[in-house]
Amino acid sequence: PLLKPEVTPDEQDKQEDRIRPHRFADYIGQKDLKQVLDIAIQAAKARGETLDHLLLYGPPGLGKTTMALILASEMGVNCKVTSAPALERPRDIVGLLNSLKVGDVLFIDEIHRLSKMAEEILYPAMEDFRLDITLGKGQSAKTRSLPLPKYTLVGATTRVGALSSPLRDRFGLIQQLRFYAQDELSQIVLRTAQILQTDVSEDGAAEIARRARGTPRIANRLLKRVRDYAQVKAAGTINRYIAAEALELFQVDPCGLDWTDRRMLSVMIENFNGGPVGLETMAAATGEDTQTIEEVYEPYLMQIGYLNRTPRGRVATAAAYKHLGFTPPNQQLS
Ligand code: ADP
Repeated sequence: PLLKPEVTPDEQDKQEDRIRPHRFADYIGQKDLKQVLDIAIQAAKARGETLDHLLLYGPPGLGKTTMALILASEMGVNCKVTSAPALERPRDIVGLLNSLKVGDVLFIDEIHRLSKMAEEILYPAMEDFRLDITLGKGQSAKTRSLPLPKYTLVGATTRVGALSSPLRDRFGLIQQLRFYAQDELSQIVLRTAQILQTDVSEDGAAEIARRARGTPRIANRLLKRVRDYAQVKAAGTINRYIAAEALELFQVDPCGLDWTDRRMLSVMIENFNGGPVGLETMAAATGEDTQTIEEVYEPYLMQIGYLNRTPRGRVATAAAYKHLGFTPPNQQLS
């Protein structure tokens, strides 16, 4: 028999959209962020104004895009979603700004990757709601200014330090997203399971949450893998045994570490006595690029206390030694 075709990117988007919370009330966790934004929304609404420009930063999958969409829906406006690499030519960003209506939210993901030219168009567009366009070249070049409607720029980045300060300074609100607590991730798993019509027990959800690296996107992804496994291997509710068995198979360990995490740590421990090890070495050992290691892998390893960044390189902690079954160096002496 023919195999069913893989899900098309379109279907994947639809599924993603079904799982994504659409209201403030369904957005689990990030208490500080929600408090700040709730006040900003209420104040802006009461004054009949648009929201201040907002910069959200933190590791991927923590809910930056989701929050931008929720903000727009709470304000009752449209949200245009784009990403800095899609705004390579000046006319891309000019076109986008020109299409905005009063109050709209413009979401730019990976905003630290904006080109210099796009950034310079954005400065007056953020500060004075003005679009400065240069017509012609050289001596005969003329600048024309067009007014823009008041809108809200929501920028997202995994690397707030990589933003130029003029850009950063133009955001009225700068907010960090943090890794989620396990009980919050459990709630997210249970909510997604309900949407996917999959039966998961509380302890099954907790097991998935425990291995989700503090990240909702990963929690949802793991749930889908466990669901596949359960469908083939076990009838009935997904409990913690089934979840653990499935995630073992996918090489996600009880701390949520995958092959790359473990490889990074074991290279540090076995080849470099725990470090310090340079970023390039870690990249070579794992086949990941340095940026992915810095932005995706290291933040979580630091969060759980397995890795430290020092000026001379990365260092594996005693907890990392223990997790991988090695004896930490300071205990080798005694
Ligand atoms: P980011 O933009 O930070 O990379 P997203 O907003 O795309 O992350 O979130 C990834 C997925 O995780 C979303 O599809 C959504 O389903 C889920 N998610 C993120 N934050 C939350 C949350 N606070 N509550 C429930 N689900 C969330």
